[in-house]
Amino acid sequence: MHLDLALPDGRSVHLRLSDAALTASYGPDLVYTLDRGGRLVGAFRDGRNLRRGLDGRVLARWRHGRGPRQRSWLEPWEAGDLMIALRRDLGLVAAQSLPAPLAAAVQAGLAFDEATDVEEYHRVYSPVAILPPDQYQALVLQATEGCSFNTCTFCALYRGQPFRVKDPDEFALHIEDVRDFFGDGISFRRSIFLADANALIVPQERLLPLFSTLATAFALMPENMPQAKQRAWLETHPDGVSGIYAFVDGLSAERKSVDDFHALRLRGLRRVYIGLESGHEPLLAWLRKPSTAAAMLDAVQRLKAAGLHVGVIVLTGIGGQRFHEGHCRDTAAILNAMALGPGDIIYYSPFESDPEAPYAVLASAEGIEPATPAFAGMQETAIRRGLTLPPPLAGPKQVPYNLRDFVY
Ligand code: SF4
Repeated sequence: MHLDLALPDGRSVHLRLSDAALTASYGPDLVYTLDRGGRLVGAFRDGRNLRRGLDGRVLARWRHGRGPRQRSWLEPWEAGDLMIALRRDLGLVAAQSLPAPLAAAVQAGLAFDEATDVEEYHRVYSPVAILPPDQYQALVLQATEGCSFNTCTFCALYRGQPFRVKDPDEFALHIEDVRDFFGDGISFRRSIFLADANALIVPQERLLPLFSTLATAFALMPENMPQAKQRAWLETHPDGVSGIYAFVDGLSAERKSVDDFHALRLRGLRRVYIGLESGHEPLLAWLRKPSTAAAMLDAVQRLKAAGLHVGVIVLTGIGGQRFHEGHCRDTAAILNAMALGPGDIIYYSPFESDPEAPYAVLASAEGIEPATPAFAGMQETAIRRGLTLPPPLAGPKQVPYNLRDFVY
């Protein structure tokens, strides 16, 4: 549904209402997007793209001309100012005569209580530390919390957080809590991400009941539905999701057979994301990654034999000159060996040292240069040059994965 309105302050607004969101455009320089629960999820304002997380923080991204993309978190007062402006601008719309569905969506935006929502988010979720970029709008369901390894020297995502697996009753309760939390806004979330870092480590006999719980709680889109029909299917299934997605690591994957993965696929698993980081065994060992490149290649091959898609994450700019040649050569070689195809994704993630992780101290002690964006970019180019992938439509997508873009 679309509607154009002239406002009393001289501006005009274009409203667009879909089953997932209300978008209000006050000209090309000011746009708000709200989920159907009235929660602000994104905006364009002052030349910057803004993405609001469920914790109330707002990430701004912008670019000057052809320069590099800039990012920063809004100060709390700036985020507050955004919410005040949204209320003022929605209020002008609410005073107009609107068709009932639009009036209801605008009223939901005006009634949205941010403080209560953020508090409820922190009650329902333990910190959602990271997702693959194509899952930032997923419905996150935490079957596990934390990372079962926490050994990698470059990663501080789950440091200090004990790993635990929810039992089926607790998980069912978590699903109910998440549903209540999102309310009508759940229609903005059209896939399920089974979190946290390696939910597929759960033994198969405990994992299958978790997947069954999901299958009864949500309508799962039939596998391989043509793109052209997916939108209509989602419109007719308000609680429908395109599938279930999750991270896996090489060690956890070793404990699952092709048949195990196939059984999960039959229950809705669609794509599995693996942090390869590098194909160079000495670099992985130095980074204290819990599995080897060979184990991760084997994992990908078993996932693909089960008919699942994979997302393979490569770190660029890590390990300095000492590992540079081996990292680029062996990473390209292992990606070539994975026989990736349509539906698979290679992510290039430029490494930035996290002060909470031991990497920087260890690297400095061994004379390894600090990571820079230029070095990461050069490594990505070198790895891509070594690839022998099928032509674009028959091969995997290759996309950037900048951790600083993550907002949930
Ligand atoms: S990189 Fe993955 S496996 Fe390693 S500590 Fe971080 S979350 Fe755990």
